[in-house]
Amino acid sequence: MPRPARTSKIQAPRLLIRSSSIHAAGCYTLDPIPRGRRVLEYDGARISKELADERYADRPVTYLFGVGDSSDVIDGFGTAMFLNHSCDPNCETEEHNGRVYIHAIRNIAANEELVYEYNLYDSDDDNADCYCGAPQCRRTMFSDDELKRRARSAARKKSRAAKK
Ligand SMILES: [Zn+2]
Repeated sequence: MPRPARTSKIQAPRLLIRSSSIHAAGCYTLDPIPRGRRVLEYDGARISKELADERYADRPVTYLFGVGDSSDVIDGFGTAMFLNHSCDPNCETEEHNGRVYIHAIRNIAANEELVYEYNLYDSDDDNADCYCGAPQCRRTMFSDDELKRRARSAARKKSRAAKK
C-alpha cells in the first residue's frame, strides 16, 4: 500500500552551534542536507565598506561579507557567521538580488559541520592561515586573486628596496 505523501513543505535543516575542531565554534546540521539545498542566509545589516573599515579598525575578528561590487558589506549577525572556512567545503555562498545564501554543494550527512571557502580578499591582515585539516588544505583562507595581489605587492616592495 502506498504511503501517504509526505508534506511538500521543505523543512529547513536544524542547525546547531557547538565547538569545532577547525576553529572556536562551528555550525553543524542535525539533519541530512541534499546537494543544492539552500541552507541559510548570511544575514546582517548592510553597511558601506568605509563604515565597516571605520567600525572594525581595531577588531581582530569581523564577520563582514562583501556583496555586489563590494562597496557594501554585510555585517554578519546570526547563525551563518559561525560557519567556518574549509579547503574541502560542503557549502558555497551564492548571491541573489543582493542577499547572500549558503547552499550545499554536496550531500551532507547529519552531524557534519557546515563549511565553505572564505576566499578572503581586501584584507589588512598579514596572514589568514588555515588549519582546516583537509588533505588538500591550501594553508590560507585568502582567495587565489588575493594571494596574487599580495605576491605582486611584495615583489614591488622588494624591487623598491633593491633600488635604494
Ligand atoms: Zn585549509
